[in-house]
Amino acid sequence: MAESTRPVRELAARVDALGESFGGALCLDFANSVEPRGDTAADGAGTPRLRQDFNDGYDLVAWGLRQQLYGNEQAERLWRLAGDRRRADPVLRRTRVLSDLTYRIFGALADGRRPDASDLGELQQAYGEAVRTGTMSITPTGPAFDWPEPDLRIVPRAAAVSAFDTLRAVGSSKIKICPGAGRDGIPCGWLFIDSTKNGSRRWCSMSDCGNASKSRRQNDRRRTRRSDHRFT
Ligand SMILES: [Zn+2]
Repeated sequence: MAESTRPVRELAARVDALGESFGGALCLDFANSVEPRGDTAADGAGTPRLRQDFNDGYDLVAWGLRQQLYGNEQAERLWRLAGDRRRADPVLRRTRVLSDLTYRIFGALADGRRPDASDLGELQQAYGEAVRTGTMSITPTGPAFDWPEPDLRIVPRAAAVSAFDTLRAVGSSKIKICPGAGRDGIPCGWLFIDSTKNGSRRWCSMSDCGNASKSRRQNDRRRTRRSDHRFT
């Protein structure tokens, strides 16, 4: 595995590149791993995209750190595992499938539709695996699961638990889908929780998709700003 491990100093740059999150729940940020998302609701098929958060095992490590699933020490241990492509690639594929699945389920709810039963079945399986392998603790906001062993599957596991928690805790009426027009007319399609009292939030981000002059350059601006974002 050592021969392909990238220098750990690249970790901070990967975290920076992820930029801001707009979903309001880990599972929605996880679903928003593709930009734009508007054309991928049905089957997750590849079309021109500005960004895919999960391109290799190292991205998984950075994503988990960005979401504070672990600290720097654990991230560095995971970084070394990410260099082993035989282990990392299946987790990466699984993560992308689960991200698309999560997007379909919450996208259906945002659209006022019932999620597909087979999608729910798959989420149930992922949730079951996550709970079975996790260590439960009680936090001020309720039970939580942790995966203390270095394992690249932490991100998809945490996403499955977050999806279940969010489905239970947040009413479907609060799940919304951003109508922002992305490049080449592909809608932004990102999901978010509308926590305004009067349900008035419309955009994933006011300064990006909510900008009245939605020029074709908006995504360039977003990307620039995201790459400027400093992880603290
Ligand atoms: Zn948007």
